[in-house]
Amino acid sequence: MAAQSSVADSGFPELTLEPEVLEIIATLEGAGFETWAVGGAIRDRILEDDSSDVDLATAAEPPHILRLFNRTVAVGVDHGTVGVLDRRGRLHEVTTFRSDVETDGRHAVVRFGVSLDEDLARRDFTINAIAYHPVRREWRDPFGGQQDLRQRTVRAVGVAADRFREDYLRILRALRFAARFDFVIAPDTWSAAQELAPGLAGLSAERVRDEWIKGLGSARNLNRLVQLWRDSGAAATWLPELSGIPVEDTGLDRDPVVLTNLLTGAAEKVLRRLKCSNDDISRGAALDRLPAAPADETAVSVRQWLRTVGAAADDLGLRAGWQGARVPGWGPVVEGVRARGEATDRKGLAISGADLQALGLPQGPGIGATLDRLLDAVIEQPKLNTAPLLSDLVRQWR
Ligand code: ATP
Ligand code: MG
Repeated sequence: MAAQSSVADSGFPELTLEPEVLEIIATLEGAGFETWAVGGAIRDRILEDDSSDVDLATAAEPPHILRLFNRTVAVGVDHGTVGVLDRRGRLHEVTTFRSDVETDGRHAVVRFGVSLDEDLARRDFTINAIAYHPVRREWRDPFGGQQDLRQRTVRAVGVAADRFREDYLRILRALRFAARFDFVIAPDTWSAAQELAPGLAGLSAERVRDEWIKGLGSARNLNRLVQLWRDSGAAATWLPELSGIPVEDTGLDRDPVVLTNLLTGAAEKVLRRLKCSNDDISRGAALDRLPAAPADETAVSVRQWLRTVGAAADDLGLRAGWQGARVPGWGPVVEGVRARGEATDRKGLAISGADLQALGLPQGPGIGATLDRLLDAVIEQPKLNTAPLLSDLVRQWR
């Protein structure tokens, strides 16, 4: 085994990993394959967040892993990853020690049959390149990740510029981790990110989208995330609309569509560029265009607004919460309208188009116009929304 100098460096206590993880390690090592816990979960546990699933790195190759466990999922066998299901049905990712033999800034061709240290060397940041052996209670940290965790620093493994050229997504990952943990980005890593940010243009929209959404969900401070995207040049490439106007974190739901609208003012365009789902794009378009709030806090105005904005009301309400750092005054009025079941669309009326025909109205556009007129009346006076009263109104209008 390679030199263990990094073990002495460890001022960190022993970690307690789930018994299921220990069992998987024992099975692999019992068959002669060295196996370690690695990656984000080890970083998180040192930072005292034990919610993430532990990934395992092993000398075993996918066919061995598949043979050794009864219940497996071929998650990414080409890249060496097999999912192992434990007795509780939880999935653990087990990945063969690998190195990247060829990278084009987007994809990697991998090689198996390498050591743990080589596997750690192909990882992106020192804080993500720490391994722990929970049976031997041994650390392996060849790049000083533990020290960087202590010093709250995101630092590339090796030469930052080379690592970013291998995979430009790492630039965005650096921004995400810095904002998530409120870490600084080491000077060389930061200047390489700035220098190489134009290379982000070659990434697929899907990878950028996933990073943007993960960043929005995990940033301790959203303004810092936005600032990092802007200052690094990542925004210039992918999100030039990103405004530097700070938002106050309200603790409200971090819905990525709502936040993208709030932070760019052009959600439809941005979400389309990021190849988001059609549903997300149309939610973004609604946020861009629809009236942000009722004219005032009266129930009539709120019902009118609900009629105009339809299904976008919740998104607009959430955005108003973000903008005002609280639930807007009309929020409870919306809830009251809903709780009382008051109509704000044609479907909420006590009579239908078919009922109007039964009352003698001819088929055609007149039916829709009459329903709209009834809705006008019901929005002013919800008590009118009964079949007999609406039928009376229709008769009066004829
Ligand atoms: P998260 O909490 O976002 O899951 P993570 O560090 O676990 O953080 P993953 O994307 O799950 O991130 O990746 C697991 C590990 O794989 C990372 O910790 C890192 O060691 C390595 N890794 C992931 N993506 C890259 C990449 N683009 N380049 C190099 N190493 C990577
Ligand atoms: Mg992870």
